[in-house]
Amino acid sequence: MRTFGGFKLNDKIVYGEVRENQVHLLAKPYWLGLDFSGDVVPLQDLRIDIPVAPSKLIAVGLNYADHIAEMKRTPLGTPLIWFKAPTSLLPHEGTIEIAFPEHKTDFEVELAIIIGSRAKNVPQEKALEPVFGFSVGEDISDRDLQNSEKQFGRAKSFDTYSPIGPFVYSEVDVTDLEVTLRQNGEVKQRARTSQMIYPVAEIVGFASRSLTLLPGDVILTGTPSGVGPIKEGDVLEAQIADWPVLKNSVRNAPR
Ligand code: MG
Repeated sequence: MRTFGGFKLNDKIVYGEVRENQVHLLAKPYWLGLDFSGDVVPLQDLRIDIPVAPSKLIAVGLNYADHIAEMKRTPLGTPLIWFKAPTSLLPHEGTIEIAFPEHKTDFEVELAIIIGSRAKNVPQEKALEPVFGFSVGEDISDRDLQNSEKQFGRAKSFDTYSPIGPFVYSEVDVTDLEVTLRQNGEVKQRARTSQMIYPVAEIVGFASRSLTLLPGDVILTGTPSGVGPIKEGDVLEAQIADWPVLKNSVRNAPR
């Protein structure tokens, strides 16, 4: 497994590969090719930032049977995709700001796919080829708006509603990994990626038949059961396998 990230260095966003406690900086984002600048910086001297900068942040819904049941929905027989605004992305240790504290706003932990090469109409058997790697993501969802509006985009696109990170991992097999979300230390969601109705290759193939995937694009693959509401003061910890924990606090958005 290799680990890549985005970092804040003197007000600039830089990308690099994390090797033990050192970050080997890249001349351009890792999804555009591994072009190392030669600079190496201790991880502790950098602030971890959003590890991606996608042209499209795609979300998949209803991809775990137990979540479909808890949402009282029926399986569609096909993946369900929509878009979240890339401006909703939030780095590790960033603060989720609840836009409407009077609404029910839920956490959802999800495996995130990061695209590494342009993909259009990719056949199923080649659908892993355009994938660069994976990360831990969350799809924070305003259920009041989601239930009252036909489109999901607005309910899930508020600033800070897409925590992701801390890093992106390549050369990793994600077919059967544990996915966990803890709220204030208590496990609320726990499942395995092998329970996904549509696995990664199927999602990438399906999405690429509707639109062109570009390097750096991100696809959230859906959440398992156990979703629940967040409130000011909460701490969310999302984890996949033994990858580093994605940790975020919660407060109400200033009005
Ligand atoms: Mg979701």
